[in-house]
Amino acid sequence: MLDVIEKLLALQDRDQRLRAFQSELAHLPDERKAREKQIANSAARLEQAKTRVKEIEVEKKTLELEAQSKRDAVGRYKTQQLQTRKNEEYTALAHEVEAAEKAIRAIEDKELDLMEEVEQLKPQISAAEKIHAGEKAKIEQVLAGLDARKTNLDARTAELKADRARFTEGVDEDVLERYERLFQTKNGTALSPLEHEVCMGCHMKVTTQTGVQVKSAKDIVHCPQCGRVLYLPA
Ligand SMILES: [Zn+2]
Repeated sequence: MLDVIEKLLALQDRDQRLRAFQSELAHLPDERKAREKQIANSAARLEQAKTRVKEIEVEKKTLELEAQSKRDAVGRYKTQQLQTRKNEEYTALAHEVEAAEKAIRAIEDKELDLMEEVEQLKPQISAAEKIHAGEKAKIEQVLAGLDARKTNLDARTAELKADRARFTEGVDEDVLERYERLFQTKNGTALSPLEHEVCMGCHMKVTTQTGVQVKSAKDIVHCPQCGRVLYLPA
């Protein structure tokens, strides 16, 4: 095998690994974003359950104030009843008292309903809290794993780049350029083995003459179909 082909094969091996690392590195930010969104969604679900409890607290305060003002009114009506000498006015006040007391009972019923709702929400919230905490811990672990993966990939990328430089020494600039172009345009395979006179890159049969040229290993031979550098596998 030609010395230059051996070097190009070594280069291609490093470049293919580099390419895989780079594609993985490129996906890491999206994966991080997706995980962070999961945490935010789970927090939002928990917050929703808590919001209803807060709403109920506000509603209850409003109802308490309403009930208190009705009770105050009942007190006033009763005082007025004691002061009046007119039968008609006394009866009218008695009706007012009755109506206010009825309203107070309705408010108290509503308060009981709300308290019941809170009691039902409590276990739901504590379940949501547990789920959220678990989910958050799990995702944080995944995120830490992603950070470690990035550090590792960065280190291995630097190693490969340094290693790769060993195989460009003594190779013609033109040959290197052509190799780079092929590597980019042929999806990471610039060189292709020739097997039974078939280029394994494009699966086309080459002419006998091309086959002989590759076998003689005197010069770089390109596949007439796809342009890849042909070599005989060892
Ligand atoms: Zn080909």
